Amino acid sequence: MKKVYFDNASTTPIHPEVILEMTKVMTEDYGNPSSTHSLGRSAKNILELSRKSIAKQINATAQEIIFTSCGTEANNWILQSAVKDLKVERIITSKIEHHAVLYTAQALQYEYGIQVDFVKVKPNGEIDLTHLVELLSDEKKTLVSLMHVNNETGTILDLEKVSQICQEHNTLFHSDTVQSIGKTAIDLQKLPIDFIVASAHKFHGPKGVGFAFVRKNSGLQPLFFGGEQEKGQRPGTEAVHQIAGMAKALELSINNLEADRNHISVVKSYLVERLSLDFPGFKINGENTFYNLLNVILPFDESKTSMLLFNLDMKGIAIARGSACQSGSIRPSHVLAEMLSESDLKKPSLRISFSHFNTKEEVDLLIEALKSI
Ligand code: PLP
Repeated sequence: MKKVYFDNASTTPIHPEVILEMTKVMTEDYGNPSSTHSLGRSAKNILELSRKSIAKQINATAQEIIFTSCGTEANNWILQSAVKDLKVERIITSKIEHHAVLYTAQALQYEYGIQVDFVKVKPNGEIDLTHLVELLSDEKKTLVSLMHVNNETGTILDLEKVSQICQEHNTLFHSDTVQSIGKTAIDLQKLPIDFIVASAHKFHGPKGVGFAFVRKNSGLQPLFFGGEQEKGQRPGTEAVHQIAGMAKALELSINNLEADRNHISVVKSYLVERLSLDFPGFKINGENTFYNLLNVILPFDESKTSMLLFNLDMKGIAIARGSACQSGSIRPSHVLAEMLSESDLKKPSLRISFSHFNTKEEVDLLIEALKSI
């Protein structure tokens, strides 16, 4: 049976060139980058070239890139250190963030008694920026944490506007850019954002590696205690092969960005067209969504909700209802819960997330599979 993969917001297949790069590093460059002998120096060289390459793709400086084990760690580090070390008294975030941000904010509220305020989310999934400005009128040392592209609906935050608002209010701004890095251009010389994070497995790199962009002189302190790696900001021997794979994956993604975006946009439009023809009552969740994500309510009976993913899987289609952690659960998504009415929330929804590997033929297979359910 042909496998169809429409779950690229959960993770992406590794690019073959990335696998080659990682294999080379694992085979030949196995030294510890902190060792002073030639094998160590050679690993260190790969590490620093990877850092430079990543920094260049987002117009940052190499010293502003700190390697982590994943996006979750990078989000945790920034939020936790902002409270512990930068003495942030309030986090302003939204209820549609990834749990790596939401649960961290909650834990900090519990442990340090900080205030956590939630910006309103409009029914179309947009963050209400008028409300953000209202919240910021209360002058407290604040970190605003709002994601760039929502991982369930693909709704987009205007990074330029929000970073300007934060700058005007003398507030720190962190954006979880896990879903957008490598898929759209981000210029950190133009955007006054303090912190962003990335995860390699979302842009055809390996799992278990990510990075944080931390603007110079931010004052963040490490989450762990240990060695002097990453200038003491993130102790632990660097996973050189993973990092080299991440740098390669980001370079390939940015080099092919326009072509991939065009291809994916055509496939996504075709899916919308086919859904309109074959399932006329379907609804799109969110407006002006990112080109690689489509979240829809299907005009099916509610009784089909719990078995929908299982039935599609039986037909070889890998797809999700929400984030990977919620797939298979019949609990409604915390993101859709902020946007939809009670009755729409009970209806079967699907999150289709594309990569450049997807084709119109695969969309046809999905439509045929849905018709037979
Ligand atoms: N933030 C967002 C928006 C995500 O989509 C994800 C992954 O699902 C994460 C954070 C967590 O990233 P990682 O899997 O690298 O921990």
